[in-house]
Amino acid sequence: MLKGIGGSAGYGVGRAVIISEGKPEYVSVEITDTESEIKRFEDAVRVFVEKTQGMADAMRERVGEHNAEILEGHILMLSDPFMQDEIKGMINSGNCAEAAVDSVCDMFITMFSQVDDELTKQRATDIGDIRVRLLKILTGTPDINISEVPAGTVLVAKDLTPSMTAGIVKENVAGIVTELGGKTSHSAILARALEIPAVLSVDNVLSMVSDGMVLAVDGCEGNCIIEPSDEEITEYQKKKEIYLEEKAGLKVFVGRETVTADGAKVHLYGNIGKPEDAEAVVSGDGEGVGLFRTEFLFMGADSLPSEEQQFEAYKKAAEIMNGREVIIRTLDVGGDKDIPYLGLEKEENPFLGFRAVRYCLANEESYKVQLRALLRASAYGDIKIMVPLVTGVEEIRKVKQLVGELKQELDKAGIAYNKDIQVGVMMETPAASLIADLLAGEADFFSIGTNDLTQYTMAVDRGNAKVAYLYSAYHPAVLRSMKNIIEAGNKAGIMVGMCGEAAADTLLIPLLISFGLGEYSVSASSVLSTRSTISKWSKAEADKLAEQALALSTEEEVAALLKANVK
Ligand code: PEP
Ligand code: MG
Repeated sequence: MLKGIGGSAGYGVGRAVIISEGKPEYVSVEITDTESEIKRFEDAVRVFVEKTQGMADAMRERVGEHNAEILEGHILMLSDPFMQDEIKGMINSGNCAEAAVDSVCDMFITMFSQVDDELTKQRATDIGDIRVRLLKILTGTPDINISEVPAGTVLVAKDLTPSMTAGIVKENVAGIVTELGGKTSHSAILARALEIPAVLSVDNVLSMVSDGMVLAVDGCEGNCIIEPSDEEITEYQKKKEIYLEEKAGLKVFVGRETVTADGAKVHLYGNIGKPEDAEAVVSGDGEGVGLFRTEFLFMGADSLPSEEQQFEAYKKAAEIMNGREVIIRTLDVGGDKDIPYLGLEKEENPFLGFRAVRYCLANEESYKVQLRALLRASAYGDIKIMVPLVTGVEEIRKVKQLVGELKQELDKAGIAYNKDIQVGVMMETPAASLIADLLAGEADFFSIGTNDLTQYTMAVDRGNAKVAYLYSAYHPAVLRSMKNIIEAGNKAGIMVGMCGEAAADTLLIPLLISFGLGEYSVSASSVLSTRSTISKWSKAEADKLAEQALALSTEEEVAALLKANVK
């Protein structure tokens, strides 16, 4: 049995499909029969064109014209006579087709990426994409489309990037196993949203599993069995039934208010990545959306989504929520969330680098497109704007100033928006926590992002398995930080919510009740279990436990106390 981290609860058994992204390996050989090598290249181009046209047609139907045109643009680029001549020229001088394609694409990528113009830079990304797909055809590397894997598939990958995960059809995926990632990595968050069992951080799993092998996945305990015996399969199926029964037992909480045992009402919202996910929040009985991670909108595209495209997406979420609150976070790019067409430079420390509000304020024009789309969409529901990775008062002031300017523009143009739209701060850095009192004077609301708050407070990369033992919201430093933020927000009379994964943590919830958290935003699938846990605790009981927890010195002691008091 292989051990990893349980990234998404549940049990699944299925056949492995290995997902390998990136340039396939090839051996560069010297060619004497250049004529047949050129024919091999031309055949590959033909296959490329057929496949790409097929993808573009499917895209046109599913996503719309714009994305289809980008793919058709790839066909045009590869058919460009200059590019074709360069590749054939290299083959004529004795290079194999793979080496010729690889180095000519390299040449174009270098050329395009040096130009200081976004559109031209984007072409470098396009050529990179063309290269991988063409090399896959030449080397016979299977090209896996995640959205087309057969039913009963267990996806096995180094890591699942958010854009890869976005293509998953949940009915067909019985489980996910990866070599990298932790509980709060984006692949884990998405797996939970899709309710697919996932085991992450399984060392060397790619070298042990090949396509078609049967895998049993236990996302609760973080276990994975390769080629399980019949008894093991039966055992997993039983566990799955019990797990699903327990889940069904939570149905009594559907339609109920979210209240503590002594009747204090709190808000219980859902986190989403795409507008359509709001439907899962509604069917999961969430009372609003506490976090719309807009970066998925940007990742799912091949270029910056226009104001119109963004407006439609935000409006759609607001309409699905039908008047209930929808907190939309502005672009949180960087860290583990790469958006290739933005052409961000590789950084030594991406989590400490040019990301989120830092990137947005440095690219004011594209940030204004998003803010304008958000303002326009606010005419269609209760939309609130949330700013990620804030470390100082000047950042929130600047965002509010931009929002103010855009409001004036919209007024002049006679375009409707909510004049009282709230702008809140995502509290996820130690700096924000330490100046929570100052930020509370500027922000309309707080939402604690415990995934990052834990990462930055503990100085631990949230996806690094080697230091995962330090990554815990039960650590006294993280507990104190959360308490400080909640108290500062409450003192200033603003709403304090939590949209990090800790908001759904059964063990932690009594402490959050005691600290005075007003809003919990969790994955749609955790709404009912969170409501159930909240209903079991009175403020007095929660206070007693919090007092004991805060008197402890280590994470281990806190964890043991919380486990001993679970209801
Ligand atoms: C967080 O940091 O807690 C959070 C909710 O945001 P993300 O996981 O997208 O960084
Ligand atoms: Mg965050």
